[in-house]
Amino acid sequence: MKIGVPAEIFPGEARVALTPDSAQHLKKLGHEAFVQSGAGLKAGISDAAYADAGVTVLPDARALFEAVDIVAKVRPPVEAEVDMLRAGQTLISFFWPAQNEALMERAKSRGATVIAMDMVPRISRAQKMDALSSMANIAGYRAVIEAGNNFGRFFTGQVTAAGKIPPAKVLVVGAGVAGLAAIGTSVSLGAITYAFDVRPEVAEQIESMGAEFVFLDFEDQTQDGAATGGYAAPSSPEFREKQLAKFRELAPEMDIVITTALIPGRDAPKLWLKDMVAAMKPGSVVVDLAAEKGGNCDLTVMDEKVVSENGVTVIGYTDFPSRMAAQASALYATNIRHMMTDLTPEKDGVVVHDMEDDVIRGATVVHQGEITFPPPPPKVK
Ligand code: NAD
Repeated sequence: MKIGVPAEIFPGEARVALTPDSAQHLKKLGHEAFVQSGAGLKAGISDAAYADAGVTVLPDARALFEAVDIVAKVRPPVEAEVDMLRAGQTLISFFWPAQNEALMERAKSRGATVIAMDMVPRISRAQKMDALSSMANIAGYRAVIEAGNNFGRFFTGQVTAAGKIPPAKVLVVGAGVAGLAAIGTSVSLGAITYAFDVRPEVAEQIESMGAEFVFLDFEDQTQDGAATGGYAAPSSPEFREKQLAKFRELAPEMDIVITTALIPGRDAPKLWLKDMVAAMKPGSVVVDLAAEKGGNCDLTVMDEKVVSENGVTVIGYTDFPSRMAAQASALYATNIRHMMTDLTPEKDGVVVHDMEDDVIRGATVVHQGEITFPPPPPKVK
């Protein structure tokens, strides 16, 4: 099959869904790769680098959509991109079908197939295609780097001829994929790192990474809000009060707070409130990774950096993976080629879109002009 990657058109988006390395893997599956000229530039990949890897470079998006059987990209398509799809063609990208019903209808009317990378079921077998996790990992890392860039002090403590420097104290709220990446980065930079999550099962992992898990004095140390299936549920009012009281106690001590708390399908819980920001030292930094879902911090402004009256910087950027475009593209392109591996069982360039396969079924939101979202619950755990 012919697989093509257009340039991203979302303002500021620097990622690209194909790398020279992923193109080589696609070739081994029997596929032929195409790219729109300039698509990789912001991720540091020139047309020449693609050409060297055997990728055919096409001048514009229209030529690319016309030439290929499968279009792979990062951001959900805009209407004009959906309108370039034709019957029998497949689009693979982030799609957010629940929020993009009109786009789904449009793809259906084109007779196309859409595989949504954000709908890949979070089961072990599909981890290699889990683009949400690969991007959240980058976001967690970058959140710490961004915090450091705005902090004005060292992470690690030092004893120098010019004076003794205490280590920074970092609190990570929410220890999912992004939170664990933030914890690992913060510890490796030498900060004293604390982490909190409503799911007590992550305590051991946090401690093994060299951070301290913040327990609450609540029903024999059991955290609330840990629901079935490994995901968090909203906390009870009593638990929330305990949590907020703990955060109030920690706020004056913390130099950097990274918030990543998320409950699937809901707005982000407000956990770092105005008074906590007001209690922090001037020069401290809050990075709110949940900004897109309304933010965990009261002061967060989506996609902006604001400074509070008492001199605390609050960062609400939602494009951390794009700010590390080379790394993010490498991981995303790998997620895509793993999806292609599953779609090409015989490695002979023939795509078998097996709707009996849990992962492929889960991620397929439009199939040959029929809407197939939402999928049935996966059979395999
Ligand atoms: P995840 O579901 O793996 O983790 C969320 C964590 O928050 C879970 O561990 C959950 O138990 C915890 N949590 C829920 N309620 C809590 C509470 N009241 N107190 C403490 N912890 C609580 O999600 P993820 O993949 O790690 O993503 C984390 C956040 O990062 C999401 O909001 C995601 O949208 C965001 N994200 C942002 C960017 C960016 O550029 N800003 C990029 C990727 C992901």
